[in-house]
Amino acid sequence: MAFRDIVNQDHAVLLLRSAVRIGRVGHAYLLVGPSGVGRRTLALAFAQLLNCERPDGDACGECGPCRRIASGNHPDVRLLDIVNERFIERPGKDFKGKEIPVDQIRALRQDAAYPPYEGKWKVYIIADAERMNASSANSLLKVLEEPPARVTFLLIAESSVALLPTVVSRCQLVRCAHLRPDQIERALVERWGIPEDRARVLAALADGRLGRALEWARSEEKMDARDRLLDLLPQLETGDLMLRLDAAEALAKPPESLPLLPELLDLAVFWYRDLLIWKQIQQPALLTNRDRQAEIERLAPAYSEATLGVRIEAVEEAKEALRRNVNARLALEKLFLSFGVTPLAAPTK
Ligand SMILES: [Zn+2]
Repeated sequence: MAFRDIVNQDHAVLLLRSAVRIGRVGHAYLLVGPSGVGRRTLALAFAQLLNCERPDGDACGECGPCRRIASGNHPDVRLLDIVNERFIERPGKDFKGKEIPVDQIRALRQDAAYPPYEGKWKVYIIADAERMNASSANSLLKVLEEPPARVTFLLIAESSVALLPTVVSRCQLVRCAHLRPDQIERALVERWGIPEDRARVLAALADGRLGRALEWARSEEKMDARDRLLDLLPQLETGDLMLRLDAAEALAKPPESLPLLPELLDLAVFWYRDLLIWKQIQQPALLTNRDRQAEIERLAPAYSEATLGVRIEAVEEAKEALRRNVNARLALEKLFLSFGVTPLAAPTK
């Protein structure tokens, strides 16, 4: 997880590496950006470079400290991540898991007062820093105002807006950007050896987040759900009312499928967009579902462009309904029943 393993966060990597190279490591950094773009990987790479025994502009990734940091077992590199239950000290009984309690920050400050145990630098990584409540943030502020030597704090947050401005002003801002789909696609193929056709779909799904693409790549369950959905969509055109209602129930029923629904609806949008692309210009390179090109070629002629527009709109409406917490089954029923209203070859208005 050295800097060379980080995809397309050139600006952030440059900033952190050069701080080490010129010997001006800041007391605190705020890594902001959407989750899944590699903020934590950046923080760990920085911790490695600071403590590596054989650094060469980047951490070696092989020495004892590098390995212990990667496995989360280095005494000088501490992670506070309440969502994943990584604490500085055991949380109190009243801990609810939503906010970073002040006792964690106090424990962190106490720990930071001692020099590094075995490494060169102590590094404290605070995930979801926007979950600090006012007393936690004020407690952290105290240590940021008088930072101990050879200690650096790495705060990770979606944006700086939800943080106390006084905390933000003590940190150097490191922006982590969304990745473009082509960047994600290339990384999946070159670094993770994922076949090109699949990488294209994953990159489209990733919404700029490599982490999300990898999550899909590693989940057979999710990829199966995609296959089932893409098999289902053409069947919905056949005009069978029961099939439409059953399909809505089957998709919405298992509770574990609910978190997946918004992403599945994204996939449905990609599917209709592919059909539309095929109707307009027959260019395989532009398809998201390249692994289903044969089907797209076969099915596209039956649709009118107007109908494809209606389908995409209906799926977007269902997505919006889910965002507003409308019952998932109702939202899907409405979506699937809309297939009966507009036939495949509806003319353009
Ligand atoms: Zn090393």
